[in-house]
Amino acid sequence: MVKQLGFENLEFNMKSVETEADTSIHEAERLIKASGLKCLTLHVGALHVKDPVEVHRAVYYGKISLDFAKKLQTPVMVVHSNIARQLPEPQRRGVLELVFGELTSYAKKLNVKLALENLSYASSGYGKNVGELEEILGIIDKDVVMGFTLDFCHAEATGQTQTLLEKYHGRLCNVHLSNRAHKPFDTATDRLLFLVQELGEYGYQGPLTLELGRKCTTDQILRTKRVIEEVLQRYTKK
Ligand SMILES: [Zn+2]
Repeated sequence: MVKQLGFENLEFNMKSVETEADTSIHEAERLIKASGLKCLTLHVGALHVKDPVEVHRAVYYGKISLDFAKKLQTPVMVVHSNIARQLPEPQRRGVLELVFGELTSYAKKLNVKLALENLSYASSGYGKNVGELEEILGIIDKDVVMGFTLDFCHAEATGQTQTLLEKYHGRLCNVHLSNRAHKPFDTATDRLLFLVQELGEYGYQGPLTLELGRKCTTDQILRTKRVIEEVLQRYTKK
């Protein structure tokens, strides 16, 4: 279907995997190869840790996602902070150190770049604005600098698009693109134009990933794709 809609690339989301087993990795690899799509990014199977006893499971989800990324030859993996919003401040550091200590070294071994995503108000996870992301990055940035995934719809909902780009354009590896609340675009909004202009000014060359809600129809996906392509063309002609 992705191919039929005229796309050449894909973000593989671990949500689509029913069981995290070796057999699923081979099945995913077979499907991607058969489709001829290029897997530019992979979205981690995230667990937002509410209690430190869940750390092992979060690490397990992260590592199996990295195995998929390796197998699908995906250079970038989108990660969440793995911290639940309700986890109290004194425990955040410990959980972040444990989870990302494991994930960053495993990612380095497999040669996959991790890219932390800004989350929305609605998310159960921690890391919605520059303040929260700075706290997270201050703990997990080690010898390898963490990449960044800008989720435009989350950033718009929290009023953070410009601030996040100013702060993290140098780390930017991926952009999740949708209208408010993961809805499709019907026409080019001022904010979409603003985003594309900003990305151009920062010289961004990476992927734009359509991340639409599951209720979207194929017509809405195609319409969104066309709107974005027109904006990109309009901008690059200038
Ligand atoms: Zn996203």
